[in-house]
Amino acid sequence: MISVEEAKRLIQNLRIGRRLETVSVTEAHGQVLSADVFSPIDMPPFAQSAMDGYALGDGDRLEASSYKVTGESAAGCTDRFRLNAGECIRIFTGAPVPENAKAVVQQEWVERNEDQITLQKEVAANMHIRPQGEQMKTGDVAMEAGTLLNPAAIGFLQMLGISEVEVFAKPKVSVLVTGNELIAPGKALKYGQIYESNGQMLRAALNKEGVQAAITRVGDELDLTIASIELLLQENDILIISGGISVGDHDHVGTALQHLGVTEVFYEVAQKPGKPIYFGTKEGKAVFGLPGNPAASLSCFYEYVLPVLRKYMDRTDLFLPSFKLPLKNGTIKAMPRAQFLKVKVEDGLVHVLEGQSSAMLNTFALANALAYVPAHSAAIVEGDFLEVHLLP
Ligand code: AMP
Ligand code: MG
Repeated sequence: MISVEEAKRLIQNLRIGRRLETVSVTEAHGQVLSADVFSPIDMPPFAQSAMDGYALGDGDRLEASSYKVTGESAAGCTDRFRLNAGECIRIFTGAPVPENAKAVVQQEWVERNEDQITLQKEVAANMHIRPQGEQMKTGDVAMEAGTLLNPAAIGFLQMLGISEVEVFAKPKVSVLVTGNELIAPGKALKYGQIYESNGQMLRAALNKEGVQAAITRVGDELDLTIASIELLLQENDILIISGGISVGDHDHVGTALQHLGVTEVFYEVAQKPGKPIYFGTKEGKAVFGLPGNPAASLSCFYEYVLPVLRKYMDRTDLFLPSFKLPLKNGTIKAMPRAQFLKVKVEDGLVHVLEGQSSAMLNTFALANALAYVPAHSAAIVEGDFLEVHLLP
């Protein structure tokens, strides 16, 4: 049995096989660039008006307070205007500014009389003109390798007209659910049966990371467990096995993994919930044996599986975002094992929810964070700060 800190260190230092792929920008959300991206254009591609108003003519007549309106340029206008001294055009936000315009003055600063305008305030040179290439110049590095493609990044790449990028591939992930007692929702329960919940729960958590996963079921039989794991390991980068990893007579996952030559990275972490968690590797692939108890399973997913998943995608933010916030209610007793508590962070305070059993999901469903209480820590009372890991 190892500590939570040691388990996380092993994950942090893990070396795994990553693949690169070229994907459409429209599909790249949540992935990390594996190569620098260069801008194919100037952005903006032409001098652009930042205001609705008038583009004022060139010459030494900026001081002039009166201009003659000789044309109009709206967003999307493809006409190239030239302005003589003392002339202006009506212009709108996003429209091309004539090359020799001295400034754009907003309409609120102008009094218009037929085709004449009179400036009401002093106008500075180049005011409200977004110069060509102000944000990005052709050939510049628009985005560096290692950038996580969030919505703003997707928008920025689209803005530059880039349609494909090279990224670290999402890992192929499968969930294998073990347990003779489990049946799918939709059927009537027989005595001794329960509905299978972990498969879809883990799949939803994976989907949240932008990763798809198939769910396979196997009963508590060693031969079938070995066969299922062997097959799934061939086809996937990460295999998440639910249940069957404890020490009971019907827990065959550990034996199966050993039989298949999976190398154990750790087994059993001094924590509650989720003590019987297994993590191993084989040929650059990762295998998790998560406890069958649903809340333990999900807690282990967020703390240990998610970072490995993100590692395949070259994310640097492997672990859940962590904060120290004060406890709102009650007392958390010290324990020889580390604790992950289902909590709700609200108004900057940590509210520990009722019902922390590893078999219960109703509490987890209301939680937005896990509070981490290290092993052997002193009792935590109202107002004391504790570490919380924000759920995605
Ligand atoms: P195990 O880790 O297989 O010993 O299972 C521990 C507990 O979790 C038992 O009460 C199981 O019935 C329950 N359990 C295991 N797998 C699932 C699952 N996929 N969905 C719901 N409960 C499960
Ligand atoms: Mg079981």
